[in-house]
Amino acid sequence: MHELSLVASVFEVLEEKAREHGAARVIRVVLKVGVMSGVVPDLLESAFDTYKKETVAETARLEIVVVPAKLRCPDCGGEAVREDTDFSCAGCGSRRVEIVEGRDLVVETIELET
Ligand SMILES: [Zn+2]
Repeated sequence: MHELSLVASVFEVLEEKAREHGAARVIRVVLKVGVMSGVVPDLLESAFDTYKKETVAETARLEIVVVPAKLRCPDCGGEAVREDTDFSCAGCGSRRVEIVEGRDLVVETIELET
């Protein structure tokens, strides 16, 4: 499962931050998931729940923020945020748009308890 390997790298970040700050526990984690990342939030959540056992984040609360796709049009220079999958420029209708945001999984916030 794609989500499980992503969660594994999220936990590497969590363990590292906890160690860095001498924290005993991670109490809250906010993940930003781009709509174009291919990550399914529900699967991400259950992968997180599976993975967290016996880690510093065992009792952590997970919040997932879905980031819409942000497009830039090289033809007219316009930028737009699309929630749907119609990837054409809202300004000029060009289909050569580039996705500039919404493709990544980012650890946005980590709350630690020391
Ligand atoms: Zn355009």
